[in-house]
Amino acid sequence: MTVEAAIVLPLFLFAMINLLSLILMFRDYSAQEGRLHQLGRELSLLAFGQEGGEADIRLEKITQSRPIVPIAAFPSALLVNGCVMHKWNGYDLREGAGGGGQTQEELVFITESGSAWHRDRACVYLNPSVRMLAKEQAENERNSSGQRYTACDVCGGNSAIVYVTANGQRYHSTVTCSGLKRTINCVPLSEAVSSGRHACPRCGG
Ligand SMILES: [Zn+2]
Ligand SMILES: [Zn+2]
Repeated sequence: MTVEAAIVLPLFLFAMINLLSLILMFRDYSAQEGRLHQLGRELSLLAFGQEGGEADIRLEKITQSRPIVPIAAFPSALLVNGCVMHKWNGYDLREGAGGGGQTQEELVFITESGSAWHRDRACVYLNPSVRMLAKEQAENERNSSGQRYTACDVCGGNSAIVYVTANGQRYHSTVTCSGLKRTINCVPLSEAVSSGRHACPRCGG
């Protein structure tokens, strides 16, 4: 019994440590993804007006993942972060309040359903972290603005385990629900404002 415990306990601890490091690794991975995107966007703007060369900017970052303890661990793997961005080829100002061709308007980020525009692609409101809750728990909890969560119209929210975000108002039965997923668009600031959006309190100020 004691001998068994002496073998099983360390194994269990190693497995737990490796599991935790795996979670941290995924967090770093998505932070890296955000940074690459931001860099790609800056490079794409810098490439404006330059003739020749490739049409796209391709960024890649490869990291080797290694378990902290090599016992009871996941196999080490290569993590690849990638970003492909078309070089900025200008914005058509014919319909807008078009000034000269030299107008360099700031580009900001918006989502389809969001009511704010963002300067920072990595803003938490653009990249909400999704939490997993029991359904009863979600019904009793409140979001960051103090509102109750209600079932999502798209996926119905009909499951024992549901998914919420701190700023959202709905709970979802699946993480892949379109109500949770966000398509992020990059538009000129004036367009974001004329569509009735306000500056993000976090990064737009
Ligand atoms: Zn923001
Ligand atoms: Zn949903």
